[in-house]
Amino acid sequence: MPAYDVVVAGLGGYGSATAAHLARRGLRTLGLDPRPPAHTEGASHGETRIVRQAYFEGPTYVPLLTRAYELWDELTDESGAPLLHRTGGIYLGLPRTRVFRGSLASAETWGLEHEVLSSDDVHARFPALRPPADVMGLWEPHAGTVRPESAVLAQLRRAAAAGAELRHDEAVTGWAVDGDGVRVTTSRGSYDAGALVLAPGRWTVEMLGGLDLPLVVERRVQHWFAPPSVAPFLPGRLPVWIWDRADGTSMYGAPSQGGTGDVKAAVHFSTLRPPDAWSADEVATTLAEVLPELGSRHTRSAECWYTLTPDEHFVVGAHPASARVLLACGFSGHGFKFTPVLGEALADLVADGTTRHDLATFDPMRFAG
Ligand SMILES: Cc1cc2nc3c(=O)[nH]c(=O)nc-3n(C[C@H](O)[C@H](O)[C@H](O)COP(=O)(O)OP(=O)(O)OC[C@H]3O[C@@H](n4cnc5c(N)ncnc54)[C@H](O)[C@@H]3O)c2cc1C
Repeated sequence: MPAYDVVVAGLGGYGSATAAHLARRGLRTLGLDPRPPAHTEGASHGETRIVRQAYFEGPTYVPLLTRAYELWDELTDESGAPLLHRTGGIYLGLPRTRVFRGSLASAETWGLEHEVLSSDDVHARFPALRPPADVMGLWEPHAGTVRPESAVLAQLRRAAAAGAELRHDEAVTGWAVDGDGVRVTTSRGSYDAGALVLAPGRWTVEMLGGLDLPLVVERRVQHWFAPPSVAPFLPGRLPVWIWDRADGTSMYGAPSQGGTGDVKAAVHFSTLRPPDAWSADEVATTLAEVLPELGSRHTRSAECWYTLTPDEHFVVGAHPASARVLLACGFSGHGFKFTPVLGEALADLVADGTTRHDLATFDPMRFAG
């Protein structure tokens, strides 16, 4: 019998959630990561991640999000930490732009609570926001934020409490399918396991075992600005927001959190120049078109990394080499909100070989041929 039922490579957003689900099912789980818990070199840091259900990326994500919300609430209750914070969300753009159109389509398809607001309505409700007259807003009351660092720590605690062995000083260096299981080699030795979950974030390309996935790693910069008056930028006055500009730039931000007095904003995608080439001044100047009272007093920034697929959908499912090797990667800058539910799906696949969650959009083999 192998020493472990499953090894989880990477203990960031996905590895921590998956390890927690696996250990709770009683599987002998070994989690490995060369970096400390909730570190800042990967993709799961920066105080906030937007959580939303009127999903412009596609209505097929909505059932996963319904379950993700249940799991976030459960984790919030259990950990006692303020993980999921419902601030509401407003998605701004011309009616034809992807974020507005796609969010509306998802909301209508699934009967999600929402309202379409004119630019004047947006300003009347959220005084810090003053979009141009031709911009519309899709308001979603159940959107909000999760704190990624606290969420990773809560999932790791949950995994350890359920018996997982977690090591933060050991890297997976290779793996090979071995009979019914997997032999995993690491910076310290090797282990036989019944299954392997690969969740190494931006380092995935080094661990694909010859599989050619078209993953592109891109740097992003999260910025914080201190407005002259923070009052209109506090939760309750300002929701999370996404602004899809007609020039192919989309930006997002969150209300001021945790008493810091500063406000987060960042570039998600841009066709004008690479998103990480936008200076803080350029971000502030552009944002003055919708958040005129934000000002340009930049307080800090934090770099972070997207692992993009060509269609911006995730890669979650079996490696072609074996159903015992599962991939969780390519989260394309929008994966954090799904960590609990896709962690659950990955645990289903390890334990039962199947899951009730629809993972068809994330098929690792969709790029083949
Ligand atoms: C700036 C920014 C903003 C974002 N905003 C949002 C948002 O608003 N909403 C949203 O839902 N998502 C958002 N995302 C996306 C989301 O944060 C990511 O999809 C998610 O954090 C990815 O988690 P991960 O587990 O794949 O990667 P990570 O959390 O980076 O974890 C990977 C782990 O693997 C470990 N590792 C690396 N190599 C090895 C090895 N050889 N062996 C073992 N372990 C290894 C690393 O040390 C790391 O701990 C954003 C991302 C960024 C960068």
